[in-house]
Amino acid sequence: MASYAQHDSIRFDYLIHVQSNNVALWILDLLPIVFAYVGQYSSYMIANAASLLVMEETKELRSYASQMQMQANLAATHDHLTGLPNQALFYDRIETAFRESSGQTNASFAIMLLNIENLKEIQDTLGPTSTDLVIKQLATRLESWAAKRHSIARIDSGNFAFLLVDCNKDHVESLAKSLIKAIEPNFITNALKLTLHPSIGISVYPNDGDDADMLFQRAGIAVVFANKSPSGYSVYTSNMDEHSSKRLTMMGELKKAIARRSLELYFQPKLEIKSKKLLGIEALIRWKHPQHGYISPDEFISIAERSRLIIELSAWVIEEAFTVCAELHKVGHEIKVSINLSMKDLLNPELPDLVAGLTAKIGIDPSWIIFEITEGSIMNDPSRALIIVERLKSMGFDFSIDDFGTGYSSMAYLKRLPVSELKIDKSFVLDMTSNDSDAIIVQATIGLAHNLGLIVTAEGVEDESTLAMLDKMGCDIAQGYFFSKPLPKTELISWIESKLD
Ligand code: C2E
Ligand code: CA
Ligand code: CA
Repeated sequence: MASYAQHDSIRFDYLIHVQSNNVALWILDLLPIVFAYVGQYSSYMIANAASLLVMEETKELRSYASQMQMQANLAATHDHLTGLPNQALFYDRIETAFRESSGQTNASFAIMLLNIENLKEIQDTLGPTSTDLVIKQLATRLESWAAKRHSIARIDSGNFAFLLVDCNKDHVESLAKSLIKAIEPNFITNALKLTLHPSIGISVYPNDGDDADMLFQRAGIAVVFANKSPSGYSVYTSNMDEHSSKRLTMMGELKKAIARRSLELYFQPKLEIKSKKLLGIEALIRWKHPQHGYISPDEFISIAERSRLIIELSAWVIEEAFTVCAELHKVGHEIKVSINLSMKDLLNPELPDLVAGLTAKIGIDPSWIIFEITEGSIMNDPSRALIIVERLKSMGFDFSIDDFGTGYSSMAYLKRLPVSELKIDKSFVLDMTSNDSDAIIVQATIGLAHNLGLIVTAEGVEDESTLAMLDKMGCDIAQGYFFSKPLPKTELISWIESKLD
């Protein structure tokens, strides 16, 4: 345009000429370069901002993930209420103490177990919230007593453990006395002054044992003696074993039985009373001892609960029960499998993860499983137990209150527990046709459970007249010898198939 206006034609040399004399044209020519540069700069800025944003978000995600990881790690190694290390971490520390002591001739350390004898009484009188407050105060006191020198852990409700380093038999008594002194001053809750009654049991390495289970077990035996001693503490001596030798031998044998997988799982049918339809089975563990024959689970479960054995035992029961459940569903028997959980299971923060892993590995649906828990096992440490129950519940597992009526019943907790079934203990059912007060208890329990929206199962149904009475009372499900004793898997399958014929 400018070339045409000045020279009446457009030629290359005219173009150069007008261009050199016209600043505006220079600017116009430079514009694409400027735009390209600015465009690149702004896209660089945008890309930079975006990558910063992505980095920020990733950082946030990473820190969230590591926070979650830390929380999970903490839950696996620490007690939820007090923040103290738990039993698992404590065992790790004992193992470390063993490693450090091996090869050293004079190495010595002690395990000191502290039991608060009147904690159950406090819990029954003041309820769980106030008890938690007392436990927290106690934990703070114990931690400051241990003063980073000795490792400390909360084992369960009123049981704490200490690993006393560089400590032989001569030192332990003065340490026990000083710990008792630390617990002496009152604890305060709801303006009430409380005194705790400690019992302290001690075992010393290397005299009293050379593995963690043995030292722990023997410190536990000493606690039982401390309970009766006016001093409030007792150091393990070998004559204490006479009382508990049967238990100790049995524990060793049970450990072997679990390792060799020589335990068996039996199953007892549960039938709907109205339709006589098979609704489910309860898994019940059996141990056939090479010398003593069948030993009742009532006897050996309590022994296993005194050590980490119960964790292995429950893991085995859960895996086995899930496997049988999957097999039954595969062949079209759509029934539920009930699994008993012990008190220690409800304090094991790793249980939900273990269950999640087995669920996926074996391929079962959580809705096929009912975990049976007792009020006693919940009440031992309600806040910890509830966390585990809620986690399993959120995965889709069902819960049942077992042995109802035998223990300390807290309606407040019963209402809070996410259970769908209540099992009336066989001690009320066995004689209900001849014993009026048992019949009244059974009737009242059925009414209570139904009002709470729960299904009621009666266990220990041995005859037809009991079944007829339960039917009249509106009970939903029955389990007992009248239908079948607990059976090994193959016999159970034959039993189910004979019912279908
Ligand atoms: P529970 O959970 O109350 O189980 C019911 C018990 O009643 C079982 O005893 C069962 O065999 C018995 N029973 C069933 N029907 C009748 C009947 O009609 N009459 C009579 N007299 N008894 C009947 P078992 O198998 O000896 O188990 C005893 C306890 O041991 C169980 O009581 C449960 O608390 C515990 N237990 C059993 N297996 C396991 C397990 O795998 N894990 C855990 N943690 N505990 C278990
Ligand atoms: Ca049960
Ligand atoms: Ca029972």
